[in-house]
Amino acid sequence: IDEADRPVALAGGSPDLFSKFDPLIEQRRALLAHGQEDPFSLVMERVLSPTQAVCNGRETILLGTYNYMGMTFDPDVIAAGKQALEDFGSGTTGSRVLNGTYQGHRECEEALKEFYAMDHAMVFSTGYQANLGIISTIAGKGDYIVLDIDSHASIWDGCKLGDAEVVPFRHNDIDAMEKRLKRIPEGAGKLVILEGVYSMLGDIAPLKDMIRVAKENGAMVLVDEAHSMGFIGPNGRGVAEDQGCLDDVDFVIGTFSKSVGTVGGFCVSNHPKFEIMRLVCRPYVFTASLPPSVVATAATSIRKLMHGGNKRAHLWENSRKLHAGLKSRGFSLGTDEPQSAIIAVIMPDLERGAAMWEALLKEGLYVNLARPPATPANMTLLRCSLCAEHTADQVETILGMFERAGKAVGII
Ligand code: PMP
Repeated sequence: IDEADRPVALAGGSPDLFSKFDPLIEQRRALLAHGQEDPFSLVMERVLSPTQAVCNGRETILLGTYNYMGMTFDPDVIAAGKQALEDFGSGTTGSRVLNGTYQGHRECEEALKEFYAMDHAMVFSTGYQANLGIISTIAGKGDYIVLDIDSHASIWDGCKLGDAEVVPFRHNDIDAMEKRLKRIPEGAGKLVILEGVYSMLGDIAPLKDMIRVAKENGAMVLVDEAHSMGFIGPNGRGVAEDQGCLDDVDFVIGTFSKSVGTVGGFCVSNHPKFEIMRLVCRPYVFTASLPPSVVATAATSIRKLMHGGNKRAHLWENSRKLHAGLKSRGFSLGTDEPQSAIIAVIMPDLERGAAMWEALLKEGLYVNLARPPATPANMTLLRCSLCAEHTADQVETILGMFERAGKAVGII
């Protein structure tokens, strides 16, 4: 047997705690034995622009980043980051509630309040921590969380960290949500958690109707708008803004790791008592704050996104063009019409999904391979996420690559 397969010997015959990963180790080995490049250990050796990089020695078009608005190479964003690095150093070495709140964190929160036209904004070190922190802190013992079954991992983990009862309902199913809400015992606190864009299939939620039903049943509402910020809605505030129901959302969660083009997370709210969160939210208190250069890039990017109308229009054009082109070439897609900047291409199984992923990489195209448990209904997906900086020519090139790879692998 392979040295790596040998179980670790522990006193008293106790199990090796790694043995639970054996099925996954085996699945990876089987996949790589087919001569495939490992889809989960790609290295970007050089990044040339928001849409191009050198990976595995090849110049590659990037169609699997969350750089929706292409802000990562914006000259003003880069200049702000450099200046903050010079002026404030490389890191804060402390918590937001102790020595870790710099001028830049405040400015970033001011930019968010303006962007969303809301009273309060709280910046976290990642979007993951924003969900973890807000959800676990506001919904505690005796409270109920009613959430879409396809919610992001950070939402599920936030539920787990808190002590509330967790009641999932079928994806985007308003009646199922209402039934769950009506079954909650009288007097219990209720939080409904939804997402604007669901990132696996790139579909949006019927937020207006869902939020109306949530409110009729006395629930507070949290919406994760990670994949819509900067792009969807007249001011880029997200799907709730687009559907005219942002005023009824109690908490918007977002991230800097997508349209904003850096790293960090946030919650914005009009709740009058919101500021108390800074003292009671453990994933905010017990971790170091973001480096000054990061909050400076975020604040600059957020302010520029307030005037991103032309870029938004071009991103929609890209989304429509890619969706129509893939559909007409016979690929099966996650949505009938393009609903966001994510177009998911459904693969028949993991093996052919990995083969297609590799064929595309060899063509010079990077997309995201997604598989269970991250995906709904055990699907293997090639997730394409578009950028406002993709040119119409690049989208044409991408379609040609999909066509050749799809024929070579036998998917179309
Ligand atoms: N929410 C959703 C819906 C997400 O897709 C993600 C990241 N993929 C996050 C939260 C977490 O964001 P971050 O990368 O800032 O941790």
